[in-house]
Amino acid sequence: MSLRLKLILSFVTISLMVVSIFSAVAYISAREYTRHIEQVRLHKSNEHLIEMLDKSLPLLAQLQHIVPHHENSDNVFSIIDASQKKILPGGSFNLGKHLLTKLLIQPGTSKTQKGSFTIGKQEYLWSADPVPDSQYIIANTYLRDSSDISTFFSYVGSPFSTTLLISIWISVWAALLLARLFLQISEKNTQLEYQASHDLLTRLPNRAAIGRSVQQAMESAKTNNEELLFCLVDIDALKEINDSLGHKSGDILLNQVTQRLKHTLRNSGHIGRFGGNKFSVMIKHNEINNAENIRHKLLENFEPVYEINGHSLYVHATLGIAIFPEHANSAQELIQKTETALHTAKRLAIDSTLYDASQDNNSAERLRLTHDLRNAIHNEELQLHYQPQFDVRLNKISGVEALARWIHPQQGFIPPDTFIEIAEQTGLIQSLTDWVLRTAIKQCAEWRDMGKYLTVSVNLSARNLHDETLGSQISNLLNYWEIAPDKLCLEITETAMMTDPAHAKKLLKGLDDLGVRLSIDDFGTGYSSLGYLKQLPVDELKIDKSFVLNMAKDESDASIVRATVSLAHDLGLEVVAEGVEDQVSQDELSRMGCEYIQGYHIARPMPHDELTAMLISTRTKNNTQLDEIPVDAQSNVN
Ligand code: C2E
Ligand code: CA
Ligand code: CA
Repeated sequence: MSLRLKLILSFVTISLMVVSIFSAVAYISAREYTRHIEQVRLHKSNEHLIEMLDKSLPLLAQLQHIVPHHENSDNVFSIIDASQKKILPGGSFNLGKHLLTKLLIQPGTSKTQKGSFTIGKQEYLWSADPVPDSQYIIANTYLRDSSDISTFFSYVGSPFSTTLLISIWISVWAALLLARLFLQISEKNTQLEYQASHDLLTRLPNRAAIGRSVQQAMESAKTNNEELLFCLVDIDALKEINDSLGHKSGDILLNQVTQRLKHTLRNSGHIGRFGGNKFSVMIKHNEINNAENIRHKLLENFEPVYEINGHSLYVHATLGIAIFPEHANSAQELIQKTETALHTAKRLAIDSTLYDASQDNNSAERLRLTHDLRNAIHNEELQLHYQPQFDVRLNKISGVEALARWIHPQQGFIPPDTFIEIAEQTGLIQSLTDWVLRTAIKQCAEWRDMGKYLTVSVNLSARNLHDETLGSQISNLLNYWEIAPDKLCLEITETAMMTDPAHAKKLLKGLDDLGVRLSIDDFGTGYSSLGYLKQLPVDELKIDKSFVLNMAKDESDASIVRATVSLAHDLGLEVVAEGVEDQVSQDELSRMGCEYIQGYHIARPMPHDELTAMLISTRTKNNTQLDEIPVDAQSNVN
């Protein structure tokens, strides 16, 4: 039943009840009042008769004469003898008989008595007045109208129905008014609830609602022993589209993405707008909807070009995925792990990642490692290993790359890729690089003092490029150990150079002014533009080992290496090939004109004393004669 009908019915019922009760009370009160009036009238008639009596004449005869004359339908008299308690002739015997039982007859009393009695269904009112100074009582009786329902209605019928009509009319009106008010309030509430839980642009659940539905879905997944996949989809280009084509275009893009996501998932999952340029997708994780399939489907979603206000745009998305219960036990944790996965994907510049605890800065394991690494750097517990770099033209070891090593007291060897990444993310990289530079330059001086003139290469991270003090620190160290600047080579990855090209260019210029060598590390893995590389004051290019490792077997790798070597030469750069593991590759690189090679085929990274031993042994395993160059033969010392 509708609210409106319910309200009308209840209001009408209430008003019906109120009007009925009110009418009944009014009727009862009115009857009580008329009883009183009637009895006063009866008393007055009696008094009138009594006043007509002449006290000097016999009273009874007078009464028996007057009374019958005054009788009519409203006044039926009885003459009662109080002393004999009997009814005297001259009045109504019948009614008097009924009265006798009610009267408190005391001769000589002057008190009027009144009351009522019923005969059958008929009610009689009476007033009994003693005739002063006699034993006679005149009783006046009056037959009252009957008080059944019909009398009731005959009295109150018309005002009752009028009042009822008016009150029903008022009730209906009030009910309709109230119903409208209620509907307005409930509409407003629904609207507010919707606004609080939805994104108004895409009409998708917002972040708060997503949290609630993840919670619910998790609870039902727990009971049904199911797995849930939660994915965050980050639209990379939104900011640029907003900036270049305006927010309206950005809104169109968001709506188009919503439609495509809905189309892709076809009711099999929950889509939400997580905020800004992020959407969320929650779906049951099973054989069909596994992480790989979902990842694939969602990325495919973005492949077709988006048509926005006459512009054809390619939109790229990055996905972060986490799974319940594998990665999290609560909704909040699942969402947080998914965000971590998304950040990892963005940091690594890849399409998507599934949550991985080792990449999670906030995982307990990771926090413990960060703490231990800080202590290890502070207490100088890291070690530096050196990997030889072989000069193909001079047929000798001409340099070393300094590579950090960390033997954790409990966990043993921690791969540099792991702890360097932690150091980069936590800012520890500055003190780590500081320690590597101090140790490597000092070691370089020690070898120089032994007559071994090696170039030492030190790796820099993107974050080091923001350290304004790096140049002066290097210059101080070189001065202190009296090392020629060109005996220090700084390796900076292509990606690090590209994170903030303008800044990198400025800093590299400062370092170049010091006279140190600059090398582009892991070349081929980033997306450097050649035009940009040309502007940088670099001296060498280090081909990434991923191309070199298999060049002996894989012709396409070999041709990439060949092209890179020739490109570097065209740009006036020397080339280092790292990851050389066999003689075939070494010979091939030598034919290509590559200047330096580094790899397990020459030697693995090793502690300084092992390298010293290797340097002083007359021949390396490659039959390489180490030239002994006198100190003053070095290039100018700053
Ligand atoms: P990277 O700068 O590319 O260092 C070369 C890596 O290749 C080293 O791994 C080295 O051991 C390995 N390698 C050398 N020759 C061969 C070979 O023939 N075959 C194979 N399979 N691998 C070879 P490592 O020492 O594990 O270092 C990994 C990465 O850690 C380095 O890559 C560098 O990015 C980073 N790293 C190491 N030490 C430092 C440091 O002091 N500072 C910074 N910023 N990064 C460092
Ligand atoms: Ca390197
Ligand atoms: Ca490298």
